[in-house]
Amino acid sequence: MARRKKIYEGKAKILYEGPEPGTIVQYFKDDATAFNAEKRDVIEGKGVLNNRLSEYFMSGLNDIGVPTHFIKRINMREQLVRSVEIIPLEVVVRNTAAGSISKRLGIAEGTALPRPIVEFYYKDDALGDPMVSEEHIIAFGWASQQDMDDMVALALRVNDFLSGIMMGVGIKLVDFKIEIGRIWEGDFMRLVVADEISPDCCRLWDAKTGQKLDKDVFRRDLGNLADAYTEVARRLGVLPENNVPRGKPTLIN
Ligand code: 5GP
Repeated sequence: MARRKKIYEGKAKILYEGPEPGTIVQYFKDDATAFNAEKRDVIEGKGVLNNRLSEYFMSGLNDIGVPTHFIKRINMREQLVRSVEIIPLEVVVRNTAAGSISKRLGIAEGTALPRPIVEFYYKDDALGDPMVSEEHIIAFGWASQQDMDDMVALALRVNDFLSGIMMGVGIKLVDFKIEIGRIWEGDFMRLVVADEISPDCCRLWDAKTGQKLDKDVFRRDLGNLADAYTEVARRLGVLPENNVPRGKPTLIN
């Protein structure tokens, strides 16, 4: 049997060549990194949870006509996705001030924003993913004016969908990051949501208590990250049996 070809290994995922042309297998690792990989750890079960949660969000988006790269989940850690040409931008949508906007503009964390704010960051680890404007994006050819309009529309639709789902289970969607890719069909190109949607790239606060249920738990040493993600999955009914494999199997005599 031939060994499958690894295409790319990132901080949280590995991409392998898929079984058919134009497909990719996305493998979710347990590795957690923050602050441009200056802080790192292995959180057992995180990859399994993010695979399930990303499947849940991406297939929900597909169902309401928001195009994504997601095809199907293959197993506990892998999903089959369409191969896309990733636009080198992180698209962030914010509903509530937190994280970098609070730092940059001095807005207290938790302040509701007057409307969802869409921001773009240039994906470059060596530069620390700097924030960029539409002017930079178009001038440097990372995306066209039409792409910009489509990306904003896509990001806001994802925001509406995710905010609604989260509010339904008592979670406030503070902000999130998505990545967007191009898919070519003959001479036509369309933009689709790619990469992953999971608590690794969102800020999720319990609507009543404000408890953090996202990667800030790891970034700010607030407790057990897998427990926080399991709580999100449990509320969404993504893991009804709640059986995330954690730790080593126990030998029963
Ligand atoms: P901030 O700009 O406040 O650091 O992040 C805004 C939102 O985007 C947060 O939900 C954060 O998790 C997400 N985000 C920003 N940059 C990255 C990144 O490089 N990786 C991941 N996984 N999420 C990011």
